Amino acid sequence: MRQILTGTTAARGMALGRARLVQPSRYLVDTRPLGEDEVEEALAKLHHALETARQELRELRGKLHGALAREVNEFIDAHSLLLDDPELLRGLDDLVRIGHYRPGAALKKQRDRLAAVFEAMDDPYLRSRKEDVDQVISRVISALQRQTSREERKLAARVGEILIADTIAPADMAHLAGSGLLGVVASSGSPYSHSAILARSLDLPMLVGARDALSTIHDDDLILLDAERGEAVLHPTAQDLARYRAWQREAAQEGRRLATLANVPTRTRDGAEVRLLANAEMPPDIAMARSRGADGVGLYRTEFLFLRQKGLPTEDEQFIAYRDLVLGMGGLPVTIRTLDLGADKADAAGLVLRGEDNPALGVRGVRLSLRYPAVFTTQIRAILRAACYGPVRVLVPMVTQPDELIAVRTLFKLARQELKRENVDLPEKLALGAMIEVPAAAINVRALLEHADFLAIGTNDLAQYVLAADRGNDALDNIYNPLQPALLRLLSYVIAEGRRAKKPVSLCGEIGGDVNFTALLLALGLNEFSMHPSQLLHVRDRLATLDRANLRANAPRILRSRTHEEAEALLSDIVG
Ligand code: PEP
Ligand code: MG
Repeated sequence: MRQILTGTTAARGMALGRARLVQPSRYLVDTRPLGEDEVEEALAKLHHALETARQELRELRGKLHGALAREVNEFIDAHSLLLDDPELLRGLDDLVRIGHYRPGAALKKQRDRLAAVFEAMDDPYLRSRKEDVDQVISRVISALQRQTSREERKLAARVGEILIADTIAPADMAHLAGSGLLGVVASSGSPYSHSAILARSLDLPMLVGARDALSTIHDDDLILLDAERGEAVLHPTAQDLARYRAWQREAAQEGRRLATLANVPTRTRDGAEVRLLANAEMPPDIAMARSRGADGVGLYRTEFLFLRQKGLPTEDEQFIAYRDLVLGMGGLPVTIRTLDLGADKADAAGLVLRGEDNPALGVRGVRLSLRYPAVFTTQIRAILRAACYGPVRVLVPMVTQPDELIAVRTLFKLARQELKRENVDLPEKLALGAMIEVPAAAINVRALLEHADFLAIGTNDLAQYVLAADRGNDALDNIYNPLQPALLRLLSYVIAEGRRAKKPVSLCGEIGGDVNFTALLLALGLNEFSMHPSQLLHVRDRLATLDRANLRANAPRILRSRTHEEAEALLSDIVG
């Protein structure tokens, strides 16, 4: 019988498919003991499944790029480490060899043991690692099942399926999207989680907070996921299917219409010009930025160069990546951000940092770079050399106070002198900008503007620091909201101060590419948006419908809001 489940839209769109339930706690494994003569074969199967799981994670890392690769890589790193954990591996072997457990049963047993260990820990972070254990072990179990049964292998291909889960890890989301998954219905979670952001950039409809999904929906039920309306229709009727087909036709038409906007200038309805820049990380982002008519690259994240291999990238490796970026943009300006790693990821890049209790508040971004002047200088030299091939700006992440910018400038000056002595061609003066993502930097922006040539506001981090709310923590979605008045006032202040100092200000956090926030950002005075290139045409299209003068005139009203709900209501009232 037709039934409707409601939830919150995390990524828009519609999809029709079979339900596939994911309940990591429900492992279906064969618990009959192995015969003595089956042990070696079982061990081989187990090791093969472990290797398949490792391989899947490696492939996943290779496929990921764009705005969220860094976040997802963090999970992949944690999961890869677990898969190589000697204690886990030894325990599994012993269970099979000595206990005569079948591989699946051994995995389940180890999962239960580790889960109990993590659950007993006082530290909430370590306690939450239980989820990682669950996710890793289910990955190995599903690799094992794929080996054993063709039927299961067919099921494991997610073509035509809609995933029904409590939550989904970003790494799994990226993986499943690559194997034909159509959409996600999560019974908990928030639209601001990493997975939700990832779903939007993968164009995968997603509903979160669909409370009864796991108890109401069964495997293979037909589901119409309607994330346009925030509902999942179980056993849809002919009428529902007609609605879906109409939506499909409209979506295709809309895609064709948007494609025609690739080469038109970006203007608001009242003719104000806006610059649209791309956030880029990998070559495909650069190609997409060009094909969709970006005015340049507003944020080039360099971390992937440091995380994709063991050890630090050499000056030449970095030079080639930066030069290709500059050449790829064909004379349009590119903004290269210097390394933004923290203690949570530095080790992976070959930098040794003491583990920190609170890496988000620790030695990250420019703080880390200044602690490793030799590593930083290698990057600076590579940037300077690449800047001979086209217009380059340099962006410094996690700036808190002016002395950090002064120190970076000094390192650039020294690197120039060094390169000059080596008779290397040097570019003209490079613009040096500060990311505004630490509240102190926003509040004291005047002092920074004395040393910065431009600003780029990183709202992903600024929101998390202003609101003291980790954006990945689903329990805080009522707090981590970009419309929080405190954040709006800070954004407005930074943009106004940039204008007063006659220096460009762009915004490169997720909201820069989210059409739900385009009107707000225009109202606050922003005229340079930087976003994942997949969003460029959507934002250009949205801007053409907005009246900038009217929005600017209403900014004081928006800024007087007392709550994010009030700001939201006002905004929709103004935009109509
Ligand atoms: C931000 O913090 O908004 C930002 C763009 O930087 P990242 O997402 O790379 O931390
Ligand atoms: Mg940031």
